[in-house]
Amino acid sequence: MSGHSAGAEIERLIQLLARLPGLGPRSARRAALQMLGKKETLMRPLADAISQAADHVLTCSTCGNMDTKDPCSICTDTRRDAGVICVVEHVADLWALERAGANSGQYHVLGGTLSALDGIGPDDLNIAGLVDRISGGDVREIVLALNATVDGQATAHYITDQVQSYGASISQVAHGVPVGGEMDYLDDGTLAAAMKARRPF
Ligand code: ZN
Repeated sequence: MSGHSAGAEIERLIQLLARLPGLGPRSARRAALQMLGKKETLMRPLADAISQAADHVLTCSTCGNMDTKDPCSICTDTRRDAGVICVVEHVADLWALERAGANSGQYHVLGGTLSALDGIGPDDLNIAGLVDRISGGDVREIVLALNATVDGQATAHYITDQVQSYGASISQVAHGVPVGGEMDYLDDGTLAAAMKARRPF
């Protein structure tokens, strides 16, 4: 299949795929061809799954997780410890901690970190929602599970300032990981150990 004869539909598919993280134009082309070669076993089920997810997945208005219901299945799980809130940057970090079985409490997804460089301030993150949850007084412990980056740590300090007066203890996961390490890329064992070895912040 040469470039100019690929057809508008295929070109559009490749262009959209190339916008996914980790996929450049070259891998996007390979993925598109792979799908087209497996229309019934891969392409249609994938298209259905994408469409279903687009229709049904919501962002939890309490914690920021993604689920098919709001509040999400973690927020509504009464077996979890509602007195502990683990604060993460992204939904991917929440999922990583869940895979590792590292947190039996609740979560709060900030949606990123403060960043002077990128012009991201407190109002761009879900920090007010966190303060709101903690101000109720039922939260005993806040576990900051933010990336060991400059922005992650600046964000941890900012949050600490905001919530200190509510009396919950504040701890930070141990970063037995390279500085600059990202939570989502840690293996389950390292994540679980980091949660266990959290220390007062
Ligand atoms: Zn939730």
